[in-house]
Amino acid sequence: MTGGEELRGGAYRGRLAPSPTGYLHLGHARTFWIAYERARAVGGVLVLRNEDLDRARCRPEFVAGMIEDLRWLGISWQEGPDCGGPAGPYSQSQRLDRYRAAFERLREQKLIYPCGCSRRDVLSAARAPHAAEDEPVYPGTCRGGLSSAIAGEKANWRFRVPDGQTISFVDRRCGLQNLVAGRDFGDFVVWRQDGIPAYQLAVVVDDAAMRITEVVRGEDLLRSTARQLLLFRALGWPAPEYFHCPLLCDATGARLAKRHEALSLRALRRAGQAPECLRTG
Ligand code: GLU
Repeated sequence: MTGGEELRGGAYRGRLAPSPTGYLHLGHARTFWIAYERARAVGGVLVLRNEDLDRARCRPEFVAGMIEDLRWLGISWQEGPDCGGPAGPYSQSQRLDRYRAAFERLREQKLIYPCGCSRRDVLSAARAPHAAEDEPVYPGTCRGGLSSAIAGEKANWRFRVPDGQTISFVDRRCGLQNLVAGRDFGDFVVWRQDGIPAYQLAVVVDDAAMRITEVVRGEDLLRSTARQLLLFRALGWPAPEYFHCPLLCDATGARLAKRHEALSLRALRRAGQAPECLRTG
């Protein structure tokens, strides 16, 4: 691990990990407010991490926008791209060497394999698979090996999950979770052929290097937590605790997303809403 030597173990360290692919909305406000309150309640440190790996969708104005919106909401953090800190850099696009090192370790241990399938889950691997976007269980087409011509730099790489094994963890809000590898999720992408690490790998490398002790995020990522626990185990790093928040839905029951323009924090601010009314959704 790198950059963590100055960080003391033991004390609470939480994180806010928005992706700058749009303006923050009411759903983010609630999750991030919970994360802020949980860190503040125990006098812990909150880290702001800019998850800007998805180059095709991230834009600089959304980075500035998320910092402005979070501040307006009344949230403060002690480490981040705007204020620095001992575990920086705090933008994922500047941490590629760390992800590459973890990828190489997984490859040396033969825990990942090259995959020649061109599927939607490969293309979208740089972002977190929220709810309905989560990938179908990979049928294992390339598990048996690819021809060496394809297996070079051109391949995507998948983590081989232990089929049939139950991944258990106690979520601090949702309680005991049991997810079965190969049934609830399959072999997942850790590295894309275009040199972009997948969300699942990047988030594990960062949560470990930044010594995050509790991850607060939406409950639509419970299956991703199971995937990430496998990566923590494979890399020999202690995993954080998890607190998955309830999701905020629109009138039709759909999870709020960045396309819900009218519910973006800046639209609500312009409409005269006060931040204290938005913090709890
Ligand atoms: N950047 C991810 C997102 O915005 C973070 C998910 C997580 O908390 O791990 O969906």
